[in-house]
Amino acid sequence: MQKPRVLVIGGGAAGLSAAIAAARQGASATLLEAGPRAGRKILASGNGRCNLSNSSAGPLAYNHPEFVEPVLAAYPAQRIREFFSQMGLLTFADAEGRVYPVTNAAASVLEVLRLECARLGVVERCGFEVASISQPSDAVGFEVVASDGERLGADAVVVATGGGDSLLAVLGHQSVDCEPVLGPLKTAVEPIRGLSGVRVRCEASLRAKDGRVLATERGELLFREYGVSGIMVFDLSRFFEPGSVLSIDLFPDLQLRELEAMLVRRSEDLSWRAAETFFDGMLQSRMAEAVLRAALIEPPTPVAELSCEQLAGLLKRFELSVTGRGDAKQAQVTRGGLSVDEIDPHTMASRRVDGLFAAGEVLDIDGRCGGFNLHWAWASGILAGLNAAYFAEQRATARDTLSGGSE
Ligand SMILES: Cc1cc2nc3c(=O)[nH]c(=O)nc-3n(C[C@H](O)[C@H](O)[C@H](O)COP(=O)(O)OP(=O)(O)OC[C@H]3O[C@@H](n4cnc5c(N)ncnc54)[C@H](O)[C@@H]3O)c2cc1C
Repeated sequence: MQKPRVLVIGGGAAGLSAAIAAARQGASATLLEAGPRAGRKILASGNGRCNLSNSSAGPLAYNHPEFVEPVLAAYPAQRIREFFSQMGLLTFADAEGRVYPVTNAAASVLEVLRLECARLGVVERCGFEVASISQPSDAVGFEVVASDGERLGADAVVVATGGGDSLLAVLGHQSVDCEPVLGPLKTAVEPIRGLSGVRVRCEASLRAKDGRVLATERGELLFREYGVSGIMVFDLSRFFEPGSVLSIDLFPDLQLRELEAMLVRRSEDLSWRAAETFFDGMLQSRMAEAVLRAALIEPPTPVAELSCEQLAGLLKRFELSVTGRGDAKQAQVTRGGLSVDEIDPHTMASRRVDGLFAAGEVLDIDGRCGGFNLHWAWASGILAGLNAAYFAEQRATARDTLSGGSE
């Protein structure tokens, strides 16, 4: 009997894990990658350290919690770490649950994946850009055609082509419009003049036009020429709506009244200071300048003339109108892609076309910063590869029975 054939399109995290899972299940797995080598994005991830999972990977970290739930239940963080440890990769989780290789090098992650592919006999075809997938007949299975015209046949296909337009529209799959998320935000620039490069620990909320809180994050925020950046901003960017306002609380551990009382005491103790040095020792000087500017306080103003109520309000609610998402090239993931309505999250199988599977960022799934997106890629990739192999085996058996019968 000819081995069941699984073609995996896309040599990223999802495609590599799908090919490994399919080959471990006994399929003949071929990985088709358009670029010169597989795993390019893995090498760039986590600033070259590859934050490959998160101990608290749960449905609420993603945009379609109900869809990802069965996938995460089948492949929680511990199982993903085991998947890697079986291949010889040692990992650790930091205090925030972010899982990294102990080498702190993304290259180690790719190396173990490639070694496992080689051990299992996965055929890696780089420079193979798939232009179309068709299904000439149920018995034949799929035909995949490269942009240079080369054709390959398969019993099952896993599409793991990452963010952007998907190949599956031709097979009738619906797509949700794509937009880059997990990136910086552009804001009004006048209130942040002179702040570029300043980092503050704070709590920040993104509010919609009507005042609804869209999301709140705590952490380190980095001011840039054009707006704001940093992991907490990347997470907030997933909830951006036109007309949103970013409200930064520079003293999240103090209530407004406590902060105001503290400023009153400070203005008594430091009454000899001028306004421009009032915040010295409490705020970075460039941040202090921005707060005083927002309060329309011109130096030199004596401390006695400062309104502690107004300043406390500004420190708890330093507001910036958000004008859009920042440079798309800095965004880590794409929202949108293949609609999850047409995929079974228990198997990653298409509900439209038998034998077709999808995994990773090609689907309309995006998660928080912190290892959640790669976790999704591995988990959905393994599930898709495994089920593609089961399906391919059934199709290959049926084909053999048919050809045996006609002899
Ligand atoms: C700078 C950066 C840092 C990141 N850091 C982290 C991190 O630390 N932790 C984390 O969890 N996530 C991180 N992410 C997100 C994470 O890398 C992605 O979510 C994940 O890599 C998606 O994997 P994928 O396999 O679905 O897609 P991809 O990695 O995009 O792989 C898809 C592959 O398919 C190929 N392809 C596309 N079309 C075709 C075609 N027609 N034929 C053949 N091949 C095709 C592409 O060339 C590509 O190699 C980061 C992203 C970026 C950009």
